[in-house]
Amino acid sequence: MTKETCVACSVPLCKRDIENHHFPVPKAAGGKETVPLCRSCHNMVHRVPLNDWPQDWSAKAFYQMGREGRLFLLKALYIHALTEFERKAK
Ligand SMILES: [Zn+2]
Ligand SMILES: [Zn+2]
Repeated sequence: MTKETCVACSVPLCKRDIENHHFPVPKAAGGKETVPLCRSCHNMVHRVPLNDWPQDWSAKAFYQMGREGRLFLLKALYIHALTEFERKAK
C-alpha cells in the first residue's frame, strides 16, 4: 500500500487522515484538482489570514525556493496586497 504524504510538511498520512485541498484553483472558483494535506496544514491554509502570516515564514520560504517559487510568491503577494488595498479603499 502506498502511503500518501502531506504536500506541505511531508508527514505520512493514512487514508482517513488525508484532507483533500483544492489546488491550484479553489473549489469555490470551480477547481477540481486536489492535493493531500494533513489536518494541521489544511487548517493553516484556511484559517490563517495572509495578513497574519508569520513574516519569518514568508522570508524563510522565499530563500528556500528556486526562481519559479520566488517569482510565484512575489506575484501572489503583489496581487494580494493590491486586492487588499482596493478592498479597503471602497
Ligand atoms: Zn502537513
Ligand atoms: Zn482546503
